Amino acid sequence: MEAKAGDISVPLAVLLKREMSNEKCEKPDLLYGEACQKKKGEDFTLLSADSERMQETSTESFSVFAIFDGHNGSAAAIYTKENLLENVLKAIPPKVSRDEWISALPRALVAGFVKTDKDFTAQARSSGTTVTLVIIDGWVVTVASVGDSCCILESAEGSIYVLSADHRLEVNKEEVERVTASGGEVARINIAGSAGIGPLRCWPGGLCLSRSIGDLDVGEYIVPVPHVKQVKLSNAGGRLVIASDGVWDALSHENALSCCRGLPAEAAATRIVKEAVKVKGLRDDTTCIVVDILPPEKVSPPVKKPGKVGIKYIFRRKSSDTLSEDHIDRGCSEPDVVEEIFEDGSAMLSERLSTDCMTSIIFEPYNCAVCQLEMKPGEGISIHGTTFKSTGIKRPWDGPFLCVPCQEKKEAMEGKNCS
Ligand SMILES: [Zn+2]
Repeated sequence: MEAKAGDISVPLAVLLKREMSNEKCEKPDLLYGEACQKKKGEDFTLLSADSERMQETSTESFSVFAIFDGHNGSAAAIYTKENLLENVLKAIPPKVSRDEWISALPRALVAGFVKTDKDFTAQARSSGTTVTLVIIDGWVVTVASVGDSCCILESAEGSIYVLSADHRLEVNKEEVERVTASGGEVARINIAGSAGIGPLRCWPGGLCLSRSIGDLDVGEYIVPVPHVKQVKLSNAGGRLVIASDGVWDALSHENALSCCRGLPAEAAATRIVKEAVKVKGLRDDTTCIVVDILPPEKVSPPVKKPGKVGIKYIFRRKSSDTLSEDHIDRGCSEPDVVEEIFEDGSAMLSERLSTDCMTSIIFEPYNCAVCQLEMKPGEGISIHGTTFKSTGIKRPWDGPFLCVPCQEKKEAMEGKNCS
């Protein structure tokens, strides 16, 4: 049996076989490595292939990889490295099923980022950090990002997906509008009479980024609300490259992937950093983590078909590869499809902490949705309480709820404290 390219319907027998093969290779093997060349010593990384969570009756493991690129000192980067993951995990109630855990992650990531920022800025006014945090659970990859470090995925078939957002003011018009509307001034450096020099920056302070953890001295409209993207890889796997701007200022996504093709993860990370420094010199901390997500027991890096490389921003892509009996019977190598499960980059907490009914039942209804403080019914402030002012509709009875300090943090982030 052979289905022609372009056929839409997939025979039931094929779907069943796919399901069975999915079960057969439930967990991928991960091989990973990192490399770094320091200039300022403000880049930090986190690599853990066996973080644990309690699930219903058992303990399950998942993997975490992160880059923190600090600025104006490394206090924020170090604090975030030490506290962020715990704050995210605390936002998910214990003993939920794996599916519930995965669907709760996007909201928990927002809560964890905001709590980490709130706690850090309570003790330090200056210094900030970008964060690119990658959580891998089975074939599901979840990336939360603030700032301009970047995570890309090359699927086993050779398509490139960008999994993080770019929060440089220079390239992000939406963020320029948000910062300006919240009371920040966005402009280039101006030297008497000349046109603006260099990239767009936020004033006072001159930060090129619109989102980070820390940076209280720059302004509260520099928010820690992460862009979150969650995808599921086919069980053919793929390669993740997570790197700080020292790499991306020198190399395109394609060049970073092609310069290390065929090398194992550790050597690949070293090659990417070496290549970046060769192109631009060591002008900034240059840090890279490579993670190969492989079908179990397949130890060599995924083989790429040449000539198929292209950056994919649009998900739910259907493979036009011919689906043959051969593909199906090998079980663990169905045609490459990266499926988008979730994506949201809004800076508005009222949007990011609200979840659909199915997901919201996972969370404690009266706990503060950011810091998880336990509150009594009626004590918290509804996240919708002030959101619908313009339309005159208020939903003060409607959760999720915030404690008073977290509500104040929310108002500050939305620029409501400057009037
Ligand atoms: Zn709170």
